[in-house]
Amino acid sequence: MEKLKNFIGGAFIDPVRGNYIDNYEPATGKVYCEIPNSDEEDVILAVKAAEEAYPVWSGMSNEERSKILVRLSEGIEARMDEFVRAESRDNGKPLALAAHVDIPRAVSNFHFFATAIIHFASEAHPMTGVGVNYTLRKPLGIVGCISPWNLPLYLFSWKIAPALAAGNCVIAKPSEVTPYTAYLLGQVANEAGMPPGVLNILHGEGGAAGDAIVKHPKIKAISFTGGTKTGEYIARTAAPMFKKLSLELGGKNPNIIFDDCDFKEMMSTTLRSSFANQGQICLCGSRIFVQKGIYEKFKEEFVRKVDATVVSNPEDPNAKLGAMVSKPHLDKVLSYIELAKEEGGTVLTGGTKVELPTPYDGGYYLRPTVIEGLSFDCRTNQEEIFGPVVTITPFETEEEVLMMANSTQYGLSATIWTSDLQRAHRMADKVDAGIVWINAWLVRDLRTPFGGVKSSGVGREGGWEALRFFTEPKNVFIKY
Ligand code: NAD
Repeated sequence: MEKLKNFIGGAFIDPVRGNYIDNYEPATGKVYCEIPNSDEEDVILAVKAAEEAYPVWSGMSNEERSKILVRLSEGIEARMDEFVRAESRDNGKPLALAAHVDIPRAVSNFHFFATAIIHFASEAHPMTGVGVNYTLRKPLGIVGCISPWNLPLYLFSWKIAPALAAGNCVIAKPSEVTPYTAYLLGQVANEAGMPPGVLNILHGEGGAAGDAIVKHPKIKAISFTGGTKTGEYIARTAAPMFKKLSLELGGKNPNIIFDDCDFKEMMSTTLRSSFANQGQICLCGSRIFVQKGIYEKFKEEFVRKVDATVVSNPEDPNAKLGAMVSKPHLDKVLSYIELAKEEGGTVLTGGTKVELPTPYDGGYYLRPTVIEGLSFDCRTNQEEIFGPVVTITPFETEEEVLMMANSTQYGLSATIWTSDLQRAHRMADKVDAGIVWINAWLVRDLRTPFGGVKSSGVGREGGWEALRFFTEPKNVFIKY
């Protein structure tokens, strides 16, 4: 069976203690490779390699680093099919989704920050008759990037690209549930001429390899995307060490639909915003609030269309949904469906596993699920489920829906459907979210600030925000 290796100092090496964990294929439920179960020994090696590489990498001009990162982006593009297949196999998502979203976006992430860095500039603050201040923005040194399993290479590269562009050396850990494309990325880094030790990729569990990255004193910043509980733990550990922290955490996003919306467009987008990637996108709208005038019409058409959605193996070109990422995650989502019933909810469609023929009979397939009849403040409507499960709730007024929308601990994104311009602005202003889409969902411009409020995180990624996070400002004053 294939054994993945860590990528340290430009070489592919076994974990120091020789421990491995199984990697499952969600489509079949079978183990298909093993990955290093790294720990602090491997982090120590990676930090040593990064320390050696740092003077070279940070000493390069922005243009030189940019060229290497452009080659990295092109290197992924050149191996598109291989990356797409690997991502789909590792995660369970339909091949088409990996081909249209995940891997093209990883290509764009590297290209975007490779070119952004050549336009990145800093401020000057002249004081008339006194002197001038100018602000230098220096790389931090060695930084840690830790990412989740839902959009594996997409989110991994979203952190690594700005960190590298800004001149940092990186110790990165993909999710142990979806390590494969990160493993391939190490190969592309070498092909692109990345100096050894600039990018180091460690595999393994969060509690061991991830924790050791967070705790290593020479790692100056942690950029983390994952669950809110893990984020809390990382903040508790890293804050006393005065590390810079960027935390992109969980969500329970409202999708607010007013009577006056463009019904057709809202319907087709809401099907995607509810169930894309098996509902495993932090930006999916899992709480759907529908104004009373169109509630019944919405319910009838939505349930009919969800019921007709094809759940199949990721290679099936008809599959709209593939497999859930893992057995534990499937079980967690199923337990929330049970909870919803206990809380008085009615399952309008879905709620059960999908059994497929061999070789997919051991895979983790769940029918997209729509639940109604729950109060806005029950656990099902307050806790993140992160699967193909949505609730629908009627409302009458703006005030009422805002109160329900803002009632959770989360505040990542919100979607609002209305043709009333003033209402759109009013709602966007008042909803607790770092990202608001009006009459749209998941339209992304990589220059915009990305992140959440409340328990959805601290800090912002994207554009200049990311380059500022991965640099330290130093003010210099010169007297006239
Ligand atoms: P997770 O928190 O379990 O794991 C995320 C990463 O952190 C993994 O690489 C894991 O190995 C590592 N990790 C776990 N424990 C750690 C520890 N103690 N120290 C250091 N690292 C540790 O999350 P997950 O289940 O992989 O991902 C799903 C979660 O991610 C959901 O809550 C989802 O909302 C969130 N998410 C957020 C965003 C966003 O942009 N806000 C994007 C995608 C996913």
